[in-house]
Amino acid sequence: MPRTLLLNYNKCRPEDCDNGICRAVQACPLDLLGQEEPYDKPMMYSPVCKGCMEGIRACPNGALDID
Ligand code: SF4
Repeated sequence: MPRTLLLNYNKCRPEDCDNGICRAVQACPLDLLGQEEPYDKPMMYSPVCKGCMEGIRACPNGALDID
């Protein structure tokens, strides 16, 4: 059953990720997130998530959640 991916920009701090590269962008198997440049906050291409939790676990700041 599809879930909704939520991104809290107040918690996102790309400087906490290795070389400013969003760990969740790398972790999400559905490529729901993208990043224009290192140290940019990621953008969400689609919130339609399968709930695998990979991106949520990857984020060091708890910026991602699912509903
Ligand atoms: S992994 Fe989390 S803190 Fe790092 S850039 Fe992505 S959303 Fe922001």
